[in-house]
Parts: sequence; C-alpha cells; structure tokens
Amino acid sequence: MAACQVSPQGARPGGLSSLFSYAFGDRAARAEQQWQHLASEDAAACRAALRAAGVRFRAMPDRAAPDPRGCGIPHGVVVTRGPTGIVYDAPLVVDCSLARQLPAVEAAIQGAATAHLGQRITRVGTFGTFSCRPVRAGRGSLSEHAFGNAIDLARFAPRRGPAAVVVQHYQRDAEVPDTPRGRFLRELEQRLRGLDGVAHVIGPRQNDDHRDHFHIDRAWRWWRLGDEG
Ligand SMILES: [Zn+2]
Repeated sequence: MAACQVSPQGARPGGLSSLFSYAFGDRAARAEQQWQHLASEDAAACRAALRAAGVRFRAMPDRAAPDPRGCGIPHGVVVTRGPTGIVYDAPLVVDCSLARQLPAVEAAIQGAATAHLGQRITRVGTFGTFSCRPVRAGRGSLSEHAFGNAIDLARFAPRRGPAAVVVQHYQRDAEVPDTPRGRFLRELEQRLRGLDGVAHVIGPRQNDDHRDHFHIDRAWRWWRLGDEG
C-alpha cells in the first residue's frame, strides 16, 4: 500500500553526500542510513494497512533512535498470524514496513504450496527475525536483522502431512529436487525473488550459512534508487 512505501525523500536522507557515506563510509554511518530509511515511514498508516490486510499482530513502542550498539526497530510489530492464516513460530519481530510485505510473501507461499503440495501452508517455522548482530560475512556491518528488517524462513507445514524443511528437502546439489516438498521450496524461492517488496532472498545455493533457511529482507539498495520496493 502506498501509505507504507518509503517516499523517495525518505529513502535518501541527506542526498548525495550521505549516499556516498552509505556506500563508502564506516559502519556507523551505514547503520545510521538504514535506521533513517526505516524510521521515515508513516507508522500509523502502516499498522492500519496491516490491520486491513487481516494480519494478527501487536504494536511495539516506536523508537526515536537506535540503541547504543546501533540496533533497534523504528516501528516494530510482533506478528503471530499472517493474512492467509499462517501461524509464525516463533512470532515475527519486525519493522512494520517488512510486515506490510506479508500479503505478497504469503501469496508466494500459498501459490507454490498449492502447485506442489496440493494444499495450503498453515504454519511457518522461523529461525528468528530481530537480532542485534553483524552480517556474518559482512566485515562488521550490521545485519538487516538488527533493524527488524529481515526474516529467516526454515520450515513450512501444510494443513495435513509433514512439513517442507529447507535443510532437509531443498536438495541444493540437485538440478530438480526429487520430492514435491523439494520442488515446493525451489518454486517458493523463485517466487520470493520476483517480489518487488523484498530486496534480497538468500538461500542454500548462495552460501553455507543459508543451507537451512531462506533469508528475506528489505535492505535499502542505494544503487537502485526508486526501486527499493
Ligand atoms: Zn537472515
């Protein structure tokens, strides 16, 4: 919904000089840019949009500034159930702007599940959302998880039968997985990559850190201004 999208002004606090510091500056400058990017959104409009979409959540107190380590969620929400009835275990602790992408994310999940499993997903297991930590391979940059701007999706349970588990069924060395659950996971990854509102999708074929989950986030892609979704 337009109300929850980042305005071009909000996405570029400080113009070119801060763009430069985002791209080449130290990690404090980079964290500050990410914070500003999320904090500039209209929290009330975003939460109203979540309610309208049927997301079950509770609001966290808004934060005016990150904590001393540079972490925090500007407009946090704790999501227990998504718009298509998916229950999240553990609940998602995310910025509202990311929760606002759940209708599209769940449409991808349900579309792939219907195609390959013949039924819908009712429960999703996550490896975590908010976490104040650096990117593992990121030379000390803060992870999108440090701003509640990322979700790690690990397990998808349909209404009946066993769950599709990334570490178990993705079969990263196979061209095409030999089970419906594996093919569901591959198609889901594909569909997530096609979403405008998701910046990055990192899965088992990208690196070993992601062998057991799909990481999705809404990192601000300064090199694609106007297209950050
Ligand atoms: Zn992650």
